[in-house]
Amino acid sequence: MTDAGARLEVAQASRILFGLGIVDAFGHASRRHPDNPQQFLMSRSMAPGLVTPDDVIAHELDGDAVPPATGPVFLERFIHAAIYRARPEVGGIVHSHAPSVIPFTVVDQPVRPLAHTCGFLSGTGPAFDVAEIAGDGTDLLIRDPALGKAFADHLGHAHIALMRGHGFTAVGSDIVQAVFRAAYTASNCQLQMAAMRLGTPRYLTEAEAAACDAATSGQVPRAWNLWLTQHVNF
Ligand SMILES: [Zn+2]
Repeated sequence: MTDAGARLEVAQASRILFGLGIVDAFGHASRRHPDNPQQFLMSRSMAPGLVTPDDVIAHELDGDAVPPATGPVFLERFIHAAIYRARPEVGGIVHSHAPSVIPFTVVDQPVRPLAHTCGFLSGTGPAFDVAEIAGDGTDLLIRDPALGKAFADHLGHAHIALMRGHGFTAVGSDIVQAVFRAAYTASNCQLQMAAMRLGTPRYLTEAEAAACDAATSGQVPRAWNLWLTQHVNF
């Protein structure tokens, strides 16, 4: 993919995530640079629903913008920087404060896959807690490289990591898959909450989750192409 194509993709992902209600004024999407795996592309600090390709800038894996940004960059760019550094196979990342997910970050209730579109959630661990690293009195944000590394360590090899009182982060082999996983994480949390009100949910088994994930992974572009027509006007 060309540099311009990659910047367009970040802008498209940002618009789609806003259109789907996965991000609001806050949250962000990124993808690894197509020519340089030691860099990633994300927008300058702004509401994702307003991002255009011209707002997308390159960052080094320590979080610094290259060339140095003339305006504000995202405070939580260290989430992306640390994960790209730790996980060479990750090509796209979404960070979200989706309301349907946050309740699961503050109670002892794991997010577990119950719908066939959500097998990738198998293995999602308990929420990362900034307080365990930085103590009491923080704003819960991943605002420096040390917290970024601690969060990437917590994510491990999973596709999703929850963040206490904050939200979650989804990774994918590309930004399209990361957007898909972010959208269906929020969906699964809505379904799980609804199912728990009715009774004891029957979740996907590990084998079912693996089979569902394999089947759904091939369908990701179908969702992306629909969302492009619904939510992106460039
Ligand atoms: Zn955040």
